[in-house]
Amino acid sequence: MDNISLPYKIENVSAHGRVVRLGSVINEIIMRHDYPEAVSALLGEAVVLTAMLASSMKFEGRFVVQTQSTGPVSMLICDARSDGSLRGYAKLDKEAFAALGESPSQQDMLGTGHIAFTVDQGTDMENYQGIVPLEDNLLAAALAYFDGSEQVLTHLKLTAMPLFRPGGDMEWRAGGIMIQQTALQGGSDTSRTSTQDDWVRMQTLMETTGPDELLDPELSPEQLVYRLYNEDGVRVFDVKDFSFNCGCSRTRIENMLNSFPEEDILSMQEEGQVTVTCEFCNEVYQFDAQSFKEVPIN
Ligand SMILES: [Zn+2]
Repeated sequence: MDNISLPYKIENVSAHGRVVRLGSVINEIIMRHDYPEAVSALLGEAVVLTAMLASSMKFEGRFVVQTQSTGPVSMLICDARSDGSLRGYAKLDKEAFAALGESPSQQDMLGTGHIAFTVDQGTDMENYQGIVPLEDNLLAAALAYFDGSEQVLTHLKLTAMPLFRPGGDMEWRAGGIMIQQTALQGGSDTSRTSTQDDWVRMQTLMETTGPDELLDPELSPEQLVYRLYNEDGVRVFDVKDFSFNCGCSRTRIENMLNSFPEEDILSMQEEGQVTVTCEFCNEVYQFDAQSFKEVPIN
């Protein structure tokens, strides 16, 4: 079962979480670009994080996760719309990336900066959910976000990699699992101690999950949480489905260009043609520069 977020709750322990599993959706997002494998994996993890957070929030519009940092991957932008569509891209300095050598770490690729979580509801006001420093890797920044914004104990795993399908074709897959402590109830010290012990045990169990289990098409997210938390009474809820749908269109881009001043159109045109490439999906849109207002083309 792919392209879903599965919420779960552990009955006998105060904890709940989610499993995100992406197959064809993440493959489509990544294959539309030509990034080095390490950058694709980084983008894949960022998309999983976006899907994980978006599926645990109520919003209308677009939930955006955006990094900005000093490394060769100076920006990652991923968004999830309320209809479940996901997309994302990375801004990459290829030369600086090549200088990192073999198998660079996330920290090498990202450098330092920040990561912002925003809900864009289509009005003038953007709704910042949070902004945290990006100093190490995505996971550390995500945990800092949970720590700061929700103030609940959170444990998280993210992974993305290309796998070979039985037919021999390569396909990108990505996944993640999250567990959060449900607010501790008051009570005697004894009951609190037991809850904290349980929480440590839940984390330790989650820690045993390997990337293969997070990505394995033969192991459903439901089977995965059952395998981990069966003895503590795990319950799963309705899944949220994801799709790839960039949402860009010729009409939208044409409207955007129509709002530009003539000198901008003039500076963009080459041999009378204005070419716009959508950074999210790499779709190329071409227009006759003459069609925008009274642009004089010589
Ligand atoms: Zn697009």
